[in-house]
Amino acid sequence: MPRFRQTAEILGLMNKKECIRNIGIIAHIDHGKTTMTDSLLAEAGLLPQQIAGKARALDYLEEEQKRGITIKTANISLLHEMNGSQYVINLIDTPGHVDFTGKVARALRAIDGAIVVVDAVEEIMVQTETATQQALEERVRPILFINKIDRLIRELHLSEEDIQKKFMRIIRNFNNIIEIYGEQEFTDKWKVDPFKGTVTFGSALHKWGFTLNIAKQKGIKFADIIEAYTKNKHKTISKLLPLHNAILNMAIKNIPNPIDAQKYRLPKIWKGNIESEIGQAMLNCDDDGPATMCITMVQMDPKEGLIATGRIFSGSIKQGDQLYLVGVKKECRVHQVSIYMGAFREIVEKITSGNVATLQGIDLARAGETVVDIAYKDKIFPFEHIKYVSEPVVTVTVEPKSPKDLPHLIDAMNRLSVEDPNLVTKINVVTGEYLVSGLGELHLEIAVKFLRDYAGGIEISASSPTVEYRESVAKKGSVIMAKSSNKQNRFWVQVEPLQDEASNLIETIKAENVWVTDEYQNRLLNLTKSIAFSSEIKGMIVSGFLWACKAGPLCGEPLRNVKIKLIDAKIAEDASLREPTQISRAISRAIFGSFLTAKPLLLEPIYKIVISVPTQWMGECSSILKCRRGKILASEQKGALTIITGYIPVAETFGIATEIRSKTSGSAFWQCTFDHWSKTPDSVASEVVRYIRRRKGLASEIPKPEKFIDEA
Ligand code: GDP
Repeated sequence: MPRFRQTAEILGLMNKKECIRNIGIIAHIDHGKTTMTDSLLAEAGLLPQQIAGKARALDYLEEEQKRGITIKTANISLLHEMNGSQYVINLIDTPGHVDFTGKVARALRAIDGAIVVVDAVEEIMVQTETATQQALEERVRPILFINKIDRLIRELHLSEEDIQKKFMRIIRNFNNIIEIYGEQEFTDKWKVDPFKGTVTFGSALHKWGFTLNIAKQKGIKFADIIEAYTKNKHKTISKLLPLHNAILNMAIKNIPNPIDAQKYRLPKIWKGNIESEIGQAMLNCDDDGPATMCITMVQMDPKEGLIATGRIFSGSIKQGDQLYLVGVKKECRVHQVSIYMGAFREIVEKITSGNVATLQGIDLARAGETVVDIAYKDKIFPFEHIKYVSEPVVTVTVEPKSPKDLPHLIDAMNRLSVEDPNLVTKINVVTGEYLVSGLGELHLEIAVKFLRDYAGGIEISASSPTVEYRESVAKKGSVIMAKSSNKQNRFWVQVEPLQDEASNLIETIKAENVWVTDEYQNRLLNLTKSIAFSSEIKGMIVSGFLWACKAGPLCGEPLRNVKIKLIDAKIAEDASLREPTQISRAISRAIFGSFLTAKPLLLEPIYKIVISVPTQWMGECSSILKCRRGKILASEQKGALTIITGYIPVAETFGIATEIRSKTSGSAFWQCTFDHWSKTPDSVASEVVRYIRRRKGLASEIPKPEKFIDEA
């Protein structure tokens, strides 16, 4: 028996594709996305009206409620009636803080249109632009909701004319984003225009909103709204112009149903053969075709196991179905199919194509995974990777206060790394430390809080954050020979900087010479002549390479962009003399020896920082950046604000929040995203290396190449 009255109706409609809309809401932090979502949920009876705006139903985690930011992407299916027809809206909530943009990007794969909420006072901000750009990259159509109009009237006391000017500026800037990031075939069609019903104006807090069409139908002018506020009668506006009506009608009219959307979205997000049976089924959103699904989010429930949510692109999925996970190459059986009603899941019999579904039983799936009917496991081509904007560059060490809680901590770390692909958890085998790496200070602070909760509320201490570095080389090193400790196997190795792909082409590297490229962009090449390596020996050499690349000789940080050439080898004929650990060790010693002769250098992560600040504080912000080894790339005037764009080393950003806030009286907003790795200046590098070696308990001196070189 469904818990919610509408579940049966929703399920009925999910089979009528023309009545489905898959939408998301994206916004800069604090622009009112959650308040607006809650008002839609309240209307659907999923949240009592009087607590809408306070309860924040999609922010169902306590952490989100407390900090007032949305972290987890949750989803919900709603019913809405327009012109006498019923529609089902699958609404995906997305996080508003930049440290979680990986999650925004993943949620976008499931939806066909996005309502972009923009605060009328602050106008378009950095995150509005980033999230809209990501939507356009997934061919998700953005439409606009200009929110917090009550503040223009009540707080800023703007004249009607000034309000109009503000609206025009927001719309113009929004269309500029579409122009810049959209693909040509969509830009003209997708630019928003109040006269075409693609802009809603309103106040999420006071639950009113209108498109020009609605205002015309109801005979209401903007002056009437201003008057209602001056007379303190704004409640009447929410009765006349209910927000959910304006937003959902705008979505239904302008966001395509899944059949129309998949026709143009599929070629962008799936590069397989469109003419194939699977290609055609997905293109046409065909319920009768093979089941295909793209997972956009996973959550680990300690009792129920992994819960995976995603979009079904063709076929249908029901309990007991045998599916194949393309990325991990594993078969699995669906234990349960459900849809979300806010924080609750409703178990259903089956879900058909074009909808968002939640599955249990596919425990090895991760966000981005392609899932297919098992009968098609050899015929499927995976979905395109979902683009992430950042990579983990900041790390904390965590430890339970009581050693007996260690197993709980390890379980919690595993769970968190499954749920959040931007988070890397690992154990440092040398020091025995438990490490959690993320995108920035806030991301890690929240991760540690999750660890505590997931580990059953145990006490966990976390170190202050440290920056991840990489070790690389500036020139070609010497050819170095190292032997296995039984002296029966010898390897000659040379390292050099890994050039970009273009120069590699000039070098005409043969594909068969490339044995492996690791996760840190290091490459192992076999340049030996006429040695036939058995797959067993090759495996030992590759593990020596991987081992060396994980922790370099400078200070135990991973290598990056290093080309490692195996020049020659002498392998013992007697198998008993080819001990795997000895061989792997010899390889990594030879790599380290050559590395240390190749002008080693330390790479540091650099954030791109964008600060928007009232122009009078611009000088303060520039000098904060300069004092922290930052570089200003551009500064641009936007109304009363100046937008400063620049680079800043991640290492220099700790505590920057407090400094910017205090020097600008709290009026600046900024965000940092990882941009690139850069050589740490010599003046800083040796101190950093010393500090890291001390932290890791390594000998104070960097080893000399001779330490790794064996006599011939
Ligand atoms: P989110 O970060 O985008 O989810 O933003 P929230 O929905 O949490 O809203 C941020 C703050 O803005 C909260 O204090 C809301 O009460 C307030 N807010 C949201 N919408 C409006 C609005 O229409 N008018 C006013 N005055 N405040 C609003």
